[in-house]
Amino acid sequence: MPLFGLEELSLSYGLNHYSIDGPLRSIASALSLDDSALESLGRYVGREVLEVSYRVDIASSPLLFNWSIRGERTDFSWLDPMEKVVLERLLLEYGVDKEPLVRGAWAGHYASIYLIADPGISCILTLNMQTAYALYKYSNTVLRDYWKRLVGARRPLAFGATWFTEVQGGSDLGANQTIAESLGSGLWSLTGYKYFASAAGIADVALVTARPRGSRPGAKGLSLFSVPRVFDGKLNYRVTRLKWKSGTRAVPTGEVELLGSRAYMLGEQDKGIYYVMEDLMVSRIANSAGAVGIARKAYLEAFLYSLIRRAFGKKLIDHELVKRDLLLMEADIEASLALSMKAATLFESSWQDRPPYTSKYHYARLVTHIAKNITAETSSRVTAAAMELLGGLGFLQEFPIERWHREAMITPIWEGTSNIQALDMLEAMRKKRAHLELLRDAERAASEGYDKGFASKLLGHLVEEVKKLGSMSPELVEFYSKDSLRTIGSILATIELERLASIADERFHDVAMAYYEYFVKGRLPDRPREEVLWDIISLRGLLAEYGNRI
Ligand SMILES: Cc1cc2nc3c(=O)[nH]c(=O)nc-3n(C[C@H](O)[C@H](O)[C@H](O)COP(=O)(O)OP(=O)(O)OC[C@H]3O[C@@H](n4cnc5c(N)ncnc54)[C@H](O)[C@@H]3O)c2cc1C
Repeated sequence: MPLFGLEELSLSYGLNHYSIDGPLRSIASALSLDDSALESLGRYVGREVLEVSYRVDIASSPLLFNWSIRGERTDFSWLDPMEKVVLERLLLEYGVDKEPLVRGAWAGHYASIYLIADPGISCILTLNMQTAYALYKYSNTVLRDYWKRLVGARRPLAFGATWFTEVQGGSDLGANQTIAESLGSGLWSLTGYKYFASAAGIADVALVTARPRGSRPGAKGLSLFSVPRVFDGKLNYRVTRLKWKSGTRAVPTGEVELLGSRAYMLGEQDKGIYYVMEDLMVSRIANSAGAVGIARKAYLEAFLYSLIRRAFGKKLIDHELVKRDLLLMEADIEASLALSMKAATLFESSWQDRPPYTSKYHYARLVTHIAKNITAETSSRVTAAAMELLGGLGFLQEFPIERWHREAMITPIWEGTSNIQALDMLEAMRKKRAHLELLRDAERAASEGYDKGFASKLLGHLVEEVKKLGSMSPELVEFYSKDSLRTIGSILATIELERLASIADERFHDVAMAYYEYFVKGRLPDRPREEVLWDIISLRGLLAEYGNRI
């Protein structure tokens, strides 16, 4: 009987979450990711990260302290000590954030976020990545080299944040009212109130949007600033409260009051919205990978439970309807994983772009909007189905499965809601003509597809869907945009699975067929032969590692 483990509550606890995940391993091999780094991270996330994030969620959320023992304003968020250890190890030892800016290698970073999955922990890692990214690309001030501390390339480790949302609007950043006044010598003073501020009380430096006095209204009058927590030895802003949240509890999300806070402008004045959109690509792809990671964690619990729970004289897994549920969940996960890694690789080849940007960058942004919505829907759907497969236990807070569904619910909201992604997809197509690159690339991918006939059918369907959007009136196009995104995204994901079937593992072809039938055509796929079905739902690897526990 374990004294300190989570074995009694979670079936996936203690497994190596990388080595059991055949689909991820195949994709990692196709992308030449560092297999041994992911293997060692997989072991860590299956144990400490799982246990600590579960514990933090139910019993140990961050606490805000406004005053120090010396009677000074301090506004720090106290994290659970084990959460601090996890964050330090992920950043310093496992180097989750290090490679992108050091070697331009983004795909491995996003595969790590998928493995970590917990959106509270991942949020903190992503805020560091976003802050480092903006400082690396656009800072010319004393803070320029600070990115190294944020990604764990230099000690001591530091934490970042991105504070854009205000009480009057998160989607509509053009409504931002925070004012920036120049103090000369590159220094600015910011006054305003940031209404959703993750990493409040732990961030050493934050990216903040504000409007320089005299700049035009709307998004194009915004500039982006870096704001250190402490300036001239004094606390540079106030954290007024932490919010009560139904998930992501590992990250303190608060409200921040800027009271003449000292700040440095990033890049050029009035170009802030471009830098914000770039920075949001960093986090939207993380959100996509993380959303699928959440679905994967829930799937692991559900699949393993189906091996041990009996009903009507046989194991759940031996019931045809359970096999159907698992097949659809797995196809959903793999399609979303393929799409999020596609967005990651496109970003990897365009992240150095700057305004006014090349068509490559606009295409990467288009796929990012699409991946964000598709994966968020997968996350909500799969976690709900997994809860149901655990029956009554799925609904209890005593077991981690319920948490995964709560955590999934943030993924369509933050980093821009699903409606905003759909509208941004339209903008990328209409104004930047990004669909042209999308169609060219899809044609290339389809020509590499495993089943040429199927791949060309997919391509035809994609062209038809894009044409349909182009022929609609402005009103109608907006009305249907989220549904079009869903169709375009699901076809793209199927094309990507077909490509993976030809370059990585032909098993992806069976997954692609099932996914296309159910999620694009809306009908139940043919039931695969038993060995094929079993091969899909058991992930090639999971049973090998789990088997000795049954
Ligand atoms: C846990 C958590 C942490 C967060 N952390 C941060 C952070 O660190 N930094 C930060 O800046 N923000 C943060 N946010 C804020 C988050 O990004 C916003 O909540 C989100 O972008 C939506 O903005 P809003 O809440 O103002 O909703 P609104 O913009 O008011 O939107 C409300 C609804 O209207 C819809 N809507 C809005 N405009 C349109 C339109 N044109 N067409 C159709 N539908 C529309 C939206 O889709 C949404 O469903 C966080 C939020 C949460 C929940």
